[in-house]
Amino acid sequence: MKEIDRGRLRAALAREQDRFVHEHPRSRELFEQAREHLFGGVPMSWMTEWAGAFPVFVREASGAYFSDVDGHRYLDLCLGDTGAMTGHAPRTAVETIIEQIWRGVTFMLPTEDAVWVGRELARRFDLPYWQMALTATDANRFAIRLARHITGRSLVLVFNYCYHGTVDEAFATLRDGVVVSREGNAGPPVDPALTTRVVEFNDIAALEAALAPGDVACVLAEPALTNIGIVLPEPGYHAALREITRRTGTLLIIDETHTICAGPGGYTQTHGLEPDMFTLGKPIASGVPAAVYGFTAGVADRIRAAGGVSEDDKFDAYGIGGTLAGNALSIAAMRVTLEKVLTQDAYDRTIPLAKRFEQGVQSAIEEYQLPWHITRLGCRAEYWFQPTPPRDGSEANASMDEELVSYMHLAALNRGIMLTPFHNMALISPDTTEADIDYHTQVFRECIEAIAG
Ligand code: PMP
Repeated sequence: MKEIDRGRLRAALAREQDRFVHEHPRSRELFEQAREHLFGGVPMSWMTEWAGAFPVFVREASGAYFSDVDGHRYLDLCLGDTGAMTGHAPRTAVETIIEQIWRGVTFMLPTEDAVWVGRELARRFDLPYWQMALTATDANRFAIRLARHITGRSLVLVFNYCYHGTVDEAFATLRDGVVVSREGNAGPPVDPALTTRVVEFNDIAALEAALAPGDVACVLAEPALTNIGIVLPEPGYHAALREITRRTGTLLIIDETHTICAGPGGYTQTHGLEPDMFTLGKPIASGVPAAVYGFTAGVADRIRAAGGVSEDDKFDAYGIGGTLAGNALSIAAMRVTLEKVLTQDAYDRTIPLAKRFEQGVQSAIEEYQLPWHITRLGCRAEYWFQPTPPRDGSEANASMDEELVSYMHLAALNRGIMLTPFHNMALISPDTTEADIDYHTQVFRECIEAIAG
């Protein structure tokens, strides 16, 4: 296998940086203006996490593409880090969304659409009871709260290098086998070691040991890790996870926010998982802020038994819910997204395209004999800088290569392709075409040609 020539990589990265700055004068100007009153020059800190010296400012987007204020058009493989997995402004949903805005956005009262959405969520994900939130972060936070409420246990277990949103309990990592606050965790309310157990993904023995004392309320798990590259579960891992959680009285919360890329029912339905609780946000309302969490009849009974629910089934508890959660706009957007956008037909288009993406990247990796690999999950694919798929978060993290990531992202961006920041993820929307995928393969090959030793 060949190594990357670091000298060539550095020179190529510098060239791409210059090109980026030169070709984005208007974005640069807006960024300078924004810095006056927006901390860091952006409305949300992650927006600086791109490979260029400043973010591109978006003018508009449609389907799989967006354009920036400097007149460039991009094939969007980031899709708002899954928030726009439906494609931007999906035609079948936009009209309904606008119509609902005219009829009122938020009432702190239900609309008729909520009944349809509840039924569809129960059918699609096979869990009878649902509640709404505005973000996947909140859905996870509320699910954890309920898990603690009904188990009377305070600890949460997560996997090393997971990401579940800005959930305090999940910013814990392992250092030499000991739980510590994850690097960069700003202002934790308490030391995460007090709230959280952490084990490596795919490590059944570690999971068994961590849950054995019977003091963990819930495991919060993505069915495959997707935020440190893609780490797939090994055969039998989910069966073991389910068996051990059941045996130790630990609730299993499956977070499908990214793995909804696996199929219309997420990884859970595609692979027959049996979570106690289920969370999903991001694309569920075509980009309109909305998230959901669902649970089994058994969990519902335990919530009733744990207190806070009156005889006529009114649940009144602090720490769960929000004024705008379940608003009429989110619900209308969810209804039309579930009915007309995130359909089996859409996945029948996007998954073969993701396979084509995977094959294109794989063939270039082989041609240039690079020690890299690509992993795909449904309509999501990601290449990573180690020769074989990592088994867990630590292994994936160990082969992170900031310089290489910056170069691959920026070189792609300068050629009209936007990848997801933080890692090398590509997500396929129903509007992405075969020609788009082949263009990516061509650009990928060009990028590695410039740096391969
Ligand atoms: N769960 C998972 C698996 C995620 O990847 C993310 C965000 N990347 C979240 C939850 C949180 O989503 P949000 O930031 O929209 O709350």
